[in-house]
Amino acid sequence: WLTGKDHGSEDKVLVSVRIRPTDTTCAWEKAGQTIKLQSDYSKSVAGTEYNFDEILTGSDNKPVYNSVARSHVCAAMDGYNAVIFAYGQTASGKTFTLSGDQDQPGIIPRSMKDVFAYIRRTPTREYLLRCSYLEIYNESIHDLLAPPGSASTSQSVQIIGNGILSPLREEVVTSLKSVKEVLERGYGNRRTASTDWNERSSRSHSVFRLVIESRERSGSGEEESYVAPPTPSGRSTPVAPSAGGPRLQARGGRSVQTSVLSLIDLAGSERATSDKERTREGKYINTSLLTLGTVIGTLAENAAKNKADHVPFRNSKLTRMLQPSLSGNARISVICTINPDLSAVTESTSTLLFAQRIK
Ligand code: ADP
Ligand code: MG
Repeated sequence: WLTGKDHGSEDKVLVSVRIRPTDTTCAWEKAGQTIKLQSDYSKSVAGTEYNFDEILTGSDNKPVYNSVARSHVCAAMDGYNAVIFAYGQTASGKTFTLSGDQDQPGIIPRSMKDVFAYIRRTPTREYLLRCSYLEIYNESIHDLLAPPGSASTSQSVQIIGNGILSPLREEVVTSLKSVKEVLERGYGNRRTASTDWNERSSRSHSVFRLVIESRERSGSGEEESYVAPPTPSGRSTPVAPSAGGPRLQARGGRSVQTSVLSLIDLAGSERATSDKERTREGKYINTSLLTLGTVIGTLAENAAKNKADHVPFRNSKLTRMLQPSLSGNARISVICTINPDLSAVTESTSTLLFAQRIK
């Protein structure tokens, strides 16, 4: 495990690109942390090169986790809010990167494994973990853990305060197995709720959140167990931006540290294909992706140049919901996935431009 000061440079968004394997000709050329179109194809865009923190290739999810997610997970355990996004065109590898499959577990299962390993290695503290799983579709938030057919399935989740969601289920998890059950239940509900699964999964954001609370053990030996502190029922745990350092809160004589790890599989970034969509959403299928780019770009710029420019969190549900998690000393990683086929060059270029804009 990395320790405190090794969380990576502060106030910086980690932006990486993952190029999925292809059966046809790869149109892109990678040299170190630079990517550019192969010279045969680049006549129209003469020699444009894009630089990133990491450029990842291949089908192995382990190095991906280690280089662009692990330190963020560690920071979340140490009390910082952390957010990891997968951004890209449909079928470019977002879900493969975040969820993965049986043979190649992705960032979500790997991070949960690390979370429990971290807890086992930190006997001086006790932890309380709660997770929620939700979907944002057409600017409406749905709780994927609400029982199907219940009032809270049909009713959408509201943002009632500074990133506080209501009604929202947060399930206490105590083992890798219990997280897996929660994820499977949410995934099942997501599929059931959609009449057209492909359409819906490519146009919705899915958000997995882990709220991590911890406190020093009292050392008296006879420890009362760490029960969930009272939060207004049916609402998400309030979370403050991690400003300066880990967030500490006095409760019952001992200070409690609270942070959130958010793992987000974004909607497909492809341009609208139908006229109806184009008129409704403009150039992007999802205007919230545009807002996300502006928000992250402004945050990065404010941090780099010590400025305080207005950050338009309120322009989309996703950024409003994430506001406390993205503000302050948050650790942000954006993995942009591209399909390297020649046929996808236009979309891949637009993904690289998005990635460049937030760097
Ligand atoms: P997205 O979520 O962006 O729509 P997926 O993750 O579902 O895309 O990927 C589309 C298909 O390509 C899936 O069958 C997935 O297993 C495969 N795939 C994506 N990225 C990789 C990769 N890096 N290595 C091997 N297979 C991949
Ligand atoms: Mg997907």
